[in-house]
Formats: sequence, C-alpha cells, structure tokens
Amino acid sequence: MVVQSMTNTDTRDVPATVAQIRELEEEGCEVIRVAVPDEKAAEALKEIIPQIQVPLIADIHFDWRLAVTALKAGAHGVRINPGNIKGRENVKKIIEEARRREACVRIGVNAGSLEKDLLKKYGWPRPEALVESALRWLDYIVGDLGFENVKVSLKSSDLWHTVSAYREFSERSDFPLHLGVTEAGGLIPGTVKSALALGILLSEGIGDTLRVSLTAHPREEVRVAWEILKAVGVRRRGPEIVACPTCGRCEINLMELYEEVERRAKKITAPIKIAVMGCVVNGPGEAREADVGLAGGKGVGLIFRKGKIVRKVPEDQLLSAFFEEIDKFLAERPDL
Ligand code: SF4
Repeated sequence: MVVQSMTNTDTRDVPATVAQIRELEEEGCEVIRVAVPDEKAAEALKEIIPQIQVPLIADIHFDWRLAVTALKAGAHGVRINPGNIKGRENVKKIIEEARRREACVRIGVNAGSLEKDLLKKYGWPRPEALVESALRWLDYIVGDLGFENVKVSLKSSDLWHTVSAYREFSERSDFPLHLGVTEAGGLIPGTVKSALALGILLSEGIGDTLRVSLTAHPREEVRVAWEILKAVGVRRRGPEIVACPTCGRCEINLMELYEEVERRAKKITAPIKIAVMGCVVNGPGEAREADVGLAGGKGVGLIFRKGKIVRKVPEDQLLSAFFEEIDKFLAERPDL
C-alpha cells in the first residue's frame, strides 16, 4: 500500500514545488502527483523530477497534449480523467506515449465528471455508474490497445458511494486500485471521512495506493494516510503514540508534553509504540503494551517499558530521559 499526496504549489514555480515535494518525502510520501494545467507546467517537470526522490504523476484534465508533454518531460505516470479527455483517439495518443516510456496511467473516474451518457443512464453518479465508466475505459485501453500498466480510481465525496464503487469494481476486476475520497473536507471532517472509507476498504484487502484529500496542507494528508495505515495494521512507519486523554488524576500539563513528544518523535522512522501518560499511578499499567512510555507526576516522572518502570527522574528531565530510553530500545531492536 503506497502513500500518495498532491502538491498545492503552482507547478510552474519549480523551486516552490520541489521544496514542497521534499517536505512531503520527509513525511513519508511515496508517490507525488502534481497538477499540470498548461504546457509551461508540463515543461517544468523536466526540472522538478531530477530534484526529487519519489515517482511523479502528472494530473491531467481535458487536454491530451499536456499528458504527452508531461510524459516526454519524464513523468513516471499520468492521471487522466477519461470523462473529460474528449475522444478515444486522444486517449490513444496518451497511451502510446506512456507505452513508449514505460509509464503508468491512472484512469481516474470521478463522480463530478462522469460521461454524459452514463449520467443519463443512471440519473446521477451512482457507484455503478463509476464502475461502468472505469470498466469501459479498461476495455478500450487494456482490451483494444493492449496497454496493461494501469491503475483505477473511483472517487466520490460521499463515503458510502466511494466504498460501494471500490467494492463493486474489485469484485469485477483485478486491476490495481488507487483509493481516495475526493474533496473530503478540512482536517477533522476530511480525516474522519477518509479514515472510515479507506479503513473499511483496506480491512477488506482492497486498494494498492491511497491519497487522503484534505483542505489542508498536503503534509497533513501524508500524516493522516500513515495514521490510517497504522491503525488498520496494513503498514507501519514511525512511532505509534498511545496517549491518555487525561482526567482528574493528571498532575502535569500533558497536552504540552504530548505536543513536544510528537514533535521530537517525527525524526523516528522505526515502527515503535510509545506512550505519554498523565499520572504515575495508573499510567504505566494503562499503557503496558507500549514499548517505551513516560508518565508524569508532581515534580517526578517515570519511564517504563512494556508497563514495567525502568527509571524515575525529576520532572524537568522527563523528556530527555524518555528519548534516551527510546534510543536505547531502538539500538537493542535493529530489526525495527
Ligand atoms: Fe487519568 Fe492517569 Fe489514566 Fe491519564 S493515565 S487517564 S491521568 S488515570
């Protein structure tokens, strides 16, 4: 399962786009998609691609020529929306260029831009209509043109329509699926909607790549995508942080402590489970599944491993002692 995100810089602004892609790479983005609205943006890919580590997918709407220019500029793949690339002949030109360059093509069916005849047939962009659109394009691209390096996405902004469309498609075809809820919303509502839809699909073994679409900085998309993968147990990267919600027994500023732990823990890529707990009496026991944990008290803090207390330190040394213990744990576990 591969984590994808999309830049929100102007692709023609090469330094800004490269800087954002590098930031997303550090967060764990494994494939980047960039908007290619015109020829200048397509040409900019020539300069962007050599400066980044991850494969780049050009996002194309309407104009097949932009897809061809992007592929010639070195894009590893293109995402096309067959609903708005007019004419099979034009789709064929994109496919021929992708074949020459061994690039992949994502058939990105979207509820907002379904072909007119399917809208007429189904009345509205029902999940079945999305599936029929994707299968129809697969028939042409794979069946008639013999090009198999394809992925499919069937995005809707509705959680249940998204789930139904992907489920139905996966029953009828084995082609790889790129998962996502389109226009999911801001950080909190978009995270909830994406986590539910993608969580359901991932738990059923559906999906090969994913993007969480948020009205937020794309770094949040990457973080949320990884949290979903970790929560479902599909992939792990970086620490999983267990933290108590605090209660009347808490005697330290746990919110502040948690934020500092989260900030410092970003550097860790090993899949370690750490805990940040609000009291020394219950904390270690409540987080006994954590590899390394801290529990704060009045003037004193505890460091524990798998629920067993290993150090008692003054409160002002709690954070440094905690990260020392994490380093020690990771040195003992080179397999992580
Ligand atoms: Fe309350 Fe302590 Fe449990 Fe946190 S660990 S919720 S402070 S009892």
